[in-house]
Amino acid sequence: MLVDIHTHNYNLDNQCIIKVVCLNMPDFDKIQNILPTPHCYYSAAIHPWDATSYDDDVFASLTKIAKDKRVIAIGESGLDRIHIDTFEYQQDTFQKMIELSEKNHKPMIIHSVRSDSDIISVRGKSKAKMPWIIHGFNGSLQTAQQLVNHGMCISLGEILYRNGKKASDLLNNLPLDRIFFETDTAERSIADVYKTAATLAHHETENLEKIVFENFKKMFFDGKLEE
Ligand SMILES: [Zn+2]
Repeated sequence: MLVDIHTHNYNLDNQCIIKVVCLNMPDFDKIQNILPTPHCYYSAAIHPWDATSYDDDVFASLTKIAKDKRVIAIGESGLDRIHIDTFEYQQDTFQKMIELSEKNHKPMIIHSVRSDSDIISVRGKSKAKMPWIIHGFNGSLQTAQQLVNHGMCISLGEILYRNGKKASDLLNNLPLDRIFFETDTAERSIADVYKTAATLAHHETENLEKIVFENFKKMFFDGKLEE
């Protein structure tokens, strides 16, 4: 079964794929109005862009939904050096998200823009035990290897279309048990993302599908999840 590890698309029509829909501010209460849907899960967190604009009430509703069974990850959260003026607030917020992840035993989905080395150093200092997935990764193979060596996973989406050379380098050199795929905000289908990745990786699409489904099961369901 195909897994879309990070999407902002609330359209739940296609129940033949697993998707993790990202809830950021101001959508935390939305989940209460969504009926449980097969194969549809959520991640929730304060986005680094919102690091200066949330208050205690927002944090309280996030803390509440973080306990919801359908919310399987804390994210997207992280650091963004393009918004350098708020970087201190981002660090503080990221720390809170890490605590939420550890407390609820839910992995993190991470937004990292020009901040991969910051993320690595935070990971080291925090002694976090939960897995972290760097979503929308578009860095070098060397950076990816450092992230993987620090226990993290990489999710690929846009890079498969923007930079095939870099993407095929990543797919052919990283351990595939650390890879996920995503649509994020793109209008394409996750099936197309897998197909594109399979071509770049010289793999069968079905093979990639199996590997990533196993990665997903292992990370979020202790290896136990019916297809
Ligand atoms: Zn996103």
